[in-house]
Amino acid sequence: MASLSDRLLGLAPSATLAMSAKSSELKAQGIDIINMSVGEPDFHTPDHIKDAAKAAIDRDFTTYSPVPGYADLKEAICAKLKKENGLEYTPAQIVVSNGAKQSIANVILSLVNPGDEVIIPAPYWVSYPQMVKLAQGTPVFIEAGIENDFKITAEQLEAAITPRTRLLILCSPCNPTGSIYDAGELEGIARVILAHPDLFVISDEIYEHLNYKGEHHSIASFAGMSERTILINGVSKAYAMTGWRIGYIAAPLWIAKGCNTLQGQYTSGPCSISQKAALAALDSDQQCVETMRQAFQRRRDLIVRLCRRIPGLEVNEPQGAFYLFPKCSSYFGKKCGNRVIGNSTDFAMFVLEVGHVATVGGDAFGSPECFRMSYATSDENITEAVGRLSECLSLLK
Ligand code: PMP
Ligand code: GLU
Repeated sequence: MASLSDRLLGLAPSATLAMSAKSSELKAQGIDIINMSVGEPDFHTPDHIKDAAKAAIDRDFTTYSPVPGYADLKEAICAKLKKENGLEYTPAQIVVSNGAKQSIANVILSLVNPGDEVIIPAPYWVSYPQMVKLAQGTPVFIEAGIENDFKITAEQLEAAITPRTRLLILCSPCNPTGSIYDAGELEGIARVILAHPDLFVISDEIYEHLNYKGEHHSIASFAGMSERTILINGVSKAYAMTGWRIGYIAAPLWIAKGCNTLQGQYTSGPCSISQKAALAALDSDQQCVETMRQAFQRRRDLIVRLCRRIPGLEVNEPQGAFYLFPKCSSYFGKKCGNRVIGNSTDFAMFVLEVGHVATVGGDAFGSPECFRMSYATSDENITEAVGRLSECLSLLK
């Protein structure tokens, strides 16, 4: 019988991308939707980066690149890690991939055997558990609620570890909550990891530069941790380059080699032109990053202020990234006509179809009491969207 593989049948589609597609579909029907579902900067890639890509074409960077990326880009990544994070890596420890998404998938597929456990703090980014399932691993969730600023403690981590635990996936600044682990919290988590010799951490730092709190700390920077950390970063969020598809890992050499082998059979090196654009992004003046960061911080302040006025929503103040993750469970069980809000997916569908604002229900992030709004959009859109949200929620009785 014609059927997809068991591997694929068990895989959930990306809820963030699905909600964004649904929003585009409604827009195409002429409905005025404000899309706060997918998380990507609304800015255009800065001109000097686009110019570098155009020059790369003219200079005939149009052939296969080395599988783990061009040497000059890997050197620029090492220089960035040294300058901004105080971390020492050699180019052989860097693997550049088609976005940080592929970087994470490479690492999971390289390290996880069937039945291995991967600890994922919830709320989490939608793709982590699905990638673990693809590798036939078992995701193990640690709940972190709004009352703890959506962060796990070292004690919770210790309690979740079993002899089968292989990996922890930590995301700071976090998608979907915007929470940031401070140095003390990371040190506590590092201590637990170091006490378990077979345990590694994927540290997803893709939102490093979207930080409204202060200094970014990488868990790789604590003594002994660079041997246990696979650092994930890329250019998508900081430089408004989501479509260029460039992410990377910095990892212990043996893990980088594993990812290199996998990538060589799977996708080859990432786009040659995008790599030259990413090199320009890392090598040139960083003012564009700061300008965008300030805009996101202003929008964060605006959306928090406006959403806190809506009765029934519990709103934390995100410290980084560009997401708000309010608790909306007080609306569960309420009705509008014959429509009942049973869970956060119903909530997000109601807000989309009645309020014409696309958000994502918290179920997909492992936090069914909340929903996510991306505020990577204009102040006008934020103000209009929160107005619509408030109005449609007032219909629920
Ligand atoms: N990690 C997190 C937490 C993300 O939100 C994203 C954005 N989709 C990624 C990784 C992947 O980034 P990229 O666009 O570089 O693949
Ligand atoms: N990181 C973004 C999000 O969470 C992009 C979409 C995706 O890759 O899932 O919305």
